[in-house]
Amino acid sequence: MEHVSECIFCNIINGAVSADIVFDGGDTLFFKDIHPKAPVHIVGIPKKHFESLDAMVGDDHLVMGKLMHDATHVAREAGIFESGYRVLTNIGIHAGQEVPHVHFHILGGENLGPIRC
Ligand code: AMP
Ligand code: ZN
Repeated sequence: MEHVSECIFCNIINGAVSADIVFDGGDTLFFKDIHPKAPVHIVGIPKKHFESLDAMVGDDHLVMGKLMHDATHVAREAGIFESGYRVLTNIGIHAGQEVPHVHFHILGGENLGPIRC
């Protein structure tokens, strides 16, 4: 397991790594993905480090609801609320999770096609 001090997203939270932050929800943070897969690609994270959804227990999951709620606000601010958008999270190897800090991807700004493409 990666140490929190080495986690790229924890380092964005603590300011050691710069990012294009679009929204600070208090216990959540949203910033533009550095390698966007769509015209709008924003990453949303809880400020508390969890490796993935799988690593959360009990009330830990509550912040994911907050993240979903904040994601709708972020989508509205990004101008993709009316046209539609996708929110997803990758968990582990088969999903291709690269960053071991739980996060949602918010994707939009074009027709995204089927989920598997
Ligand atoms: P995943 O494959 O679900 O773990 O997605 C991780 C995402 O984080 C990828 O889309 C990366 O492009 C993105 N990412 C990695 N490092 C940074 C960074 N420093 N700033 C913004 N996005 C990043
Ligand atoms: Zn982290």
